[in-house]
Amino acid sequence: MKITRIETFLVPPRWLFCRVETDEGVVGWGEPIVEGRAEPVRAAVHVLAEYLIGRDPLRIEDHWQVMANGGFYRGGPVLSSALAGIDQALWDIAGKAYGAPVHALLGGPVRDRVRVYSWVGGDEPAELAEGIGARLEAGFTAVKMNASGRMPALATPAGIASVVKRVALAREILGPARDLAVDFHGRVSAADARRILPLIAEFQPMFAEEPVLPDRPHLLPGVVAASSVPVATGERLYSRWDFRAALEAGVSVVQPDLSHAGGISETRRIAALAEVWDAKLAPHCPLGPLALAASLQVAFATPNFLIQEQSIGLHYNDGADLLDYVADPAVFRFTDGYVSRPEAPGLGVEIDEAAVRRADQAGHAWRNPVWRHDDGGVAEW
Ligand SMILES: [Mg+2]
Repeated sequence: MKITRIETFLVPPRWLFCRVETDEGVVGWGEPIVEGRAEPVRAAVHVLAEYLIGRDPLRIEDHWQVMANGGFYRGGPVLSSALAGIDQALWDIAGKAYGAPVHALLGGPVRDRVRVYSWVGGDEPAELAEGIGARLEAGFTAVKMNASGRMPALATPAGIASVVKRVALAREILGPARDLAVDFHGRVSAADARRILPLIAEFQPMFAEEPVLPDRPHLLPGVVAASSVPVATGERLYSRWDFRAALEAGVSVVQPDLSHAGGISETRRIAALAEVWDAKLAPHCPLGPLALAASLQVAFATPNFLIQEQSIGLHYNDGADLLDYVADPAVFRFTDGYVSRPEAPGLGVEIDEAAVRRADQAGHAWRNPVWRHDDGGVAEW
């Protein structure tokens, strides 16, 4: 079997898909994307495609090594995400060629169902209560919310109190038998993270996500030591080498994104590395159906998996949602907050190719908002 063609599709709300075609008619799909930087990732996919055309798609690891390390310059969000999407598509082809779901090729399932959480947006307490209520009604047993909106360099007592109040309210609605994750999004300083985490510890979040920016792992040990709240990070880390410092700093949860961190191949290795520090895997996935399908395949085959993010109904999904591009949405049906094991070959999701080609005609130019402090300086989004 030989790869004959690699196409990319820029699809709303903010995603990029790739389609890898072979001379035997087997087609694989992947999702190479960095949110807000789709165009450079698309260009990188087509540069990597030059090497892959004419080669055997089943030599996934050899191709991974060439794509990751054969270009001298390596790593970072753009190259690692281009690599990630192609890696997903090659695993999809391998599964279809061997007639097995990817989790079977990874050693077989280690669980029967995968727990997922849902986002609750909204910065106002009333919206938060409504949002959590709706998720509970839909059967979810875990939700994630932003800790705050824009935060100053050092927060006032009132600013800190508003974070604590929101977490307290969420816990009150959820009760003690459900889980709450709190995403700091790198918006607070490390000093404020050290002040805030002990104050929310009594509400026992499942984890506090990105309490410091990902390029400051040297500040993580102080934040981890500041409270009993498990610390999570990793959506902006791209390889096992990037994760090493976070793991050594004592994070409890690693969150590689299947579409950023070198795909299925590298996420498996990051999960294994995390086991050394007793850290759990919770793949980041505010993305589309292929990123989610790839995440689920890894989740079913990985012993130290914790919980899966998914983007259905996410506040960023403006104009299109995850189910718009799949032929059979049943693969992403959530029952009691869990998704059941996909048995179809490959990634286990059938893409509605006509819908994807149509969406690519419109394309998108999604960018995250630029936030500024009261004095006009740039703030973390
Ligand atoms: Mg996050």
